[in-house]
Amino acid sequence: MKELDQIKTRLAKVSASEFIELEAFVAQLGQRRSVEVALEHRSKATSACLRCGDADIARWGRSKAGTQRFKCRSCKATFGATNNTPFFRLRNRQLWARYLGLMGQHVPLWRLQKDHGLPLSIPTLHRWRHRFLSTLTVEPVQPLAGMIEADEKFFRTSFKGSRGWKRKNPPQIRRSRRRGNAEVRALGDQQVPTLTAVDRSGAIHQARLSDMKHDTIVSTMSPWVESDSIICSDGNDAYAKVARATGCEHIKAKVKNCNTTQGNTAGLSIGRIDAYHRDVENLVNRRCMGVSTRYLMNYFGWARRITQHRPFGGDLLAEMLAA
Ligand SMILES: [Zn+2]
Repeated sequence: MKELDQIKTRLAKVSASEFIELEAFVAQLGQRRSVEVALEHRSKATSACLRCGDADIARWGRSKAGTQRFKCRSCKATFGATNNTPFFRLRNRQLWARYLGLMGQHVPLWRLQKDHGLPLSIPTLHRWRHRFLSTLTVEPVQPLAGMIEADEKFFRTSFKGSRGWKRKNPPQIRRSRRRGNAEVRALGDQQVPTLTAVDRSGAIHQARLSDMKHDTIVSTMSPWVESDSIICSDGNDAYAKVARATGCEHIKAKVKNCNTTQGNTAGLSIGRIDAYHRDVENLVNRRCMGVSTRYLMNYFGWARRITQHRPFGGDLLAEMLAA
């Protein structure tokens, strides 16, 4: 206690510029401890081997960064608190919460370096982004219910960042290009179809489709939907099939300036999904200036979390490390 009092007395005497430096130091320390605490909780809750499930595990020292490690007496596997989390073998844990906090908005990677002073290389910042985003692509367990809107959207197939052309192994038979539109609209290998469905509670389900066949749409969307709901779409027959398969009603959306749609006296539209698709498109095509198709669903996950106003930063970190 006496030591703490001495620190306080000394702190009261520091200059303004020193105070600013200390403030940043203490904030960083707090973030580092929050990771430590979350990892310690996870360690405490570890009761079985992550590989074989056997409960006969022993404490096995601590990692260099200080987390408890375990060894399974049955299969001899060793593991720690970051196994099966996006933080596995990720260094600089004092920066995790801050990085996750900055993901609440879209900040270009180079700005994370230049404006926010994250002392990491662009490839590392990129790897972190996709490690973290990949956890946001998991579809919610809660099914959609009530008034459901569904629609598909195409994105241009992209191999952004691919070294294929330089390595004489191009992923597509065409010239490499910096940016540009698909040469033919809606052509199989140049456009990627995606499917999104939302309900009035704000729940969002989304998936990348292998093709636009009705069977594909039915098998993808049916598990998302609770029976006795109403599915509203632009009128694609695939959604009528989804409705039949799930015991729902299908209604064709009201189109702008057109009141002639039969059976839609309530004037239902797919405005929510249109707005959401505009947000995703804005993130993918404008703010990120196109993203590689292999990462497309990561950006969908990101857009969903932003749209639903769910927290980033320390809260997201705690979610990811939840035991
Ligand atoms: Zn084991």
